[in-house]
Amino acid sequence: MDNRSDIWRGVDTIKPRFIALSDKVWAMPEVCYTEARSSAEHLAELRHQGFRIAESVAGIPTALMGEWGEGGPVIAFLGEYDALPGLSQEAGIAEPRPLELRGHGHGCGHNLLGSAALLAATAVKDWLATHKVPGRVRYYGCPAEEGGAAKAFMVRSGAFGDADIAITWHPSSFWEVVVTPSLANTRADFIFTGRTSHAAASPHLGRSALDAVELMNVGVNYMREHMPSDARVHYALLDTGGIAPNVVQAHARVRYSIRARDLPGMNELVERVHKIAQGAALMTETKVEMRIISAVSNVLPNTPLEEALHGIMEELGPPHFDDADKDFAVKIRSTLTEKDIATVYHTIGMDPTDRPLADFLVPLTAKRNPLIGSTDVGDVSWVVPDLKHRTARTPYVSPLPDSVSPPLDMSLI
Ligand SMILES: [Zn+2]
Repeated sequence: MDNRSDIWRGVDTIKPRFIALSDKVWAMPEVCYTEARSSAEHLAELRHQGFRIAESVAGIPTALMGEWGEGGPVIAFLGEYDALPGLSQEAGIAEPRPLELRGHGHGCGHNLLGSAALLAATAVKDWLATHKVPGRVRYYGCPAEEGGAAKAFMVRSGAFGDADIAITWHPSSFWEVVVTPSLANTRADFIFTGRTSHAAASPHLGRSALDAVELMNVGVNYMREHMPSDARVHYALLDTGGIAPNVVQAHARVRYSIRARDLPGMNELVERVHKIAQGAALMTETKVEMRIISAVSNVLPNTPLEEALHGIMEELGPPHFDDADKDFAVKIRSTLTEKDIATVYHTIGMDPTDRPLADFLVPLTAKRNPLIGSTDVGDVSWVVPDLKHRTARTPYVSPLPDSVSPPLDMSLI
């Protein structure tokens, strides 16, 4: 039974509500576990659509689940709605223009991610209802993808235990099934405590936590030569202990993100970074505490599902972008350097094209750059067959006269 065109027509019919939901969430950016209003909007839409509701999934106030149907397989759609710090932006403007200085913003497009996943769940629900087919469809509202790894806690609580498939997507520069592995990732804070003192009158009495952080960072940077080439380690100073140079800083905190190809590799690297922190504390006669903030697993691929989805996307054809979309894309493109653009195309092993928006399906066999980031979808993929795709929404092309038709030569890949 081919139900796809039915569902596609259903999507077109109901999409205005979900575009409005996306716009609403865009306008109320909330980060990492503070998504109270954004999750409430998703909850309200689930109720409106007649889903059975589960709130505070895994004990997380902004995690939710809606289910519809009886019996049959359980089809799960994963949505997100968290924003990013420091990315406040006025809508419809093709250059940085914060609404609020250092405010939050939806630069990663999770406003789209959440509402479109809910749209997909609703379209499947409508199809099941119309055709009286047994089966359950669920929408999981997953907070704090950015830095909070909520899905890992939801997995641990058993929230996905009886799901048969988990489907998600992410706005992107390209239209493709996601086949590149993501990296396992641990975020941990290293909190150093020393002893304060006047830096000129009694420096010998002080023990500097800031010195310890600096030595730790030097140690980790020396470790880089001796770690797997596909591992990644980065850090940010969260607390330097103060701004007065004449005071020995008694406290300092550095946050590390430690990534590796798989969990054993990541755990080994976390232990090495921890040892370096302990060495820095020993050298400076300070104390250090390691506090794990979050951790996510690498994504397990599922080749049969990826091939099936690729076939469906080929049949559906590329997303339609109208002239206004393309004009806006060209404006954004003009803010990027050629190197920026080439770097993005490099992720799919392709030289840059002149298309205003990437309205072509990236072949499954494209020579993708395998080194990407991390996602808490990885943890879901360890308990449920998982499927991800990306859809283009960001433009990468230079302006062309209307008469020039940009070539689409997939042999470039
Ligand atoms: Zn994202």
